[in-house]
Amino acid sequence: MTEEETLFCVNHPNVETRLRCNRCGNPICPKCAIRTPVGFRCPQCVKTQQAVFYTASTVDYIIAAVVSLALSLPAYLVITRLGWFIFFLAPAAGIGIAEVVRRLTRRRRGRWIWLVVAASIVLTALPFMLFAFVPLLFLPASGSPDQAGTFFVSLLFQVGYAVLYLVLVVGAAIARLR
Ligand SMILES: [Zn+2]
Ligand SMILES: [Zn+2]
Repeated sequence: MTEEETLFCVNHPNVETRLRCNRCGNPICPKCAIRTPVGFRCPQCVKTQQAVFYTASTVDYIIAAVVSLALSLPAYLVITRLGWFIFFLAPAAGIGIAEVVRRLTRRRRGRWIWLVVAASIVLTALPFMLFAFVPLLFLPASGSPDQAGTFFVSLLFQVGYAVLYLVLVVGAAIARLR
């Protein structure tokens, strides 16, 4: 076997190449080669590898969603009312939720578990955030400009806290799960 041996890509029989998949040894052209942390691999090997790597089942996804919904509701209600403690408590809550999910799914890996958890946490907070805007509907009828000003400030705080909470919780949870 010489360096100059001509190989043809297994997926593109007309394309000459000198690359081989470092797992199965099949010749692959640069278009097919996928750069992985351990070197170039063919698409087939990468797919097999991922199937082994991501072992979570549908049940795991359901567990992840239910756990995140159940835990993020009390977390949201308590933490968004505690002022600046939000900076410590929200990331802690995110890590806590992620850890419970990981434990209950027995640390099986799911490619989209982090997304399910993040979506569940956001979904829990969303109704409360929208609810904060409800008084807006009654404002024109009842309000003096002063009241309107006070209302807008409190709305800004409520929504601001909710967004800050979400960023911190979801960020921490994703960091744990990915
Ligand atoms: Zn291969
Ligand atoms: Zn190819």
